[in-house]
Amino acid sequence: MDDFHGTVRQALRFAAEVAAETLWPTRCALCDALGEVLCERCAASIPHVDWWRACRRCGSPFGYVQCDMCNPVALGRLGRKSLPFAACASAVVFGEDAGRVVRVFKDQGEQRLSAVMASAMARMVPPDWRFDAVTYVPSTLAAYRRRGYDHASLIAHDVAAELGVSCVDTLARPKTRDQRTLSGTQRIANLDGRFEALEDEMPLRILLVDDVFTTGSTLCAATDALLAAGCETVYGLTYARV
Ligand SMILES: [Zn+2]
Ligand SMILES: [Zn+2]
Repeated sequence: MDDFHGTVRQALRFAAEVAAETLWPTRCALCDALGEVLCERCAASIPHVDWWRACRRCGSPFGYVQCDMCNPVALGRLGRKSLPFAACASAVVFGEDAGRVVRVFKDQGEQRLSAVMASAMARMVPPDWRFDAVTYVPSTLAAYRRRGYDHASLIAHDVAAELGVSCVDTLARPKTRDQRTLSGTQRIANLDGRFEALEDEMPLRILLVDDVFTTGSTLCAATDALLAAGCETVYGLTYARV
């Protein structure tokens, strides 16, 4: 009897998968082509950050000669004199396409995009970065409840798997208002000091993952919390960079 039920269950699961693929077939996030969550052609068409043109310190895509962030004015807007992380890198330049990939991943629930994004990100990690573990900027409680998953955690686990290191939880989920409803200045005020490290043992050198680097305020605030909790070196890695 148990065998019979097991077989029925398997058949039902298979039927459900077939039905899902029929009703909601896998489509490219950008061009809608059937078969993959991001087709090869679209993946290649998203402008990638060129390491030779990017700022070595903060990863700004065209900042190699003159960086739009590593200067006193831009840092002043963040309320800082220097950047807290040792260096930062990103996979793609934020634009219409990269923005859509992130939206489909975060807000339309296409979690399979995480592996695609992580693979592009892992390739951008310079060989001279030394870190013991990968971690991530946790979503706010409100965003986590809305989505049912932590998007940065998914990417971080995939990045860690690509790089062959472990992924650890280091920061508590901030109970701030949803960042999406706030202006740039409000975001900084909303986030500053809102990250707190968990009480677990802190790795000395860590790679901090997030989806998009916009003003840098989120990554800086998260880095501050890691450093305050005993971490010595933080590197930043994001999928897209504004
Ligand atoms: Zn496509
Ligand atoms: Zn820079």
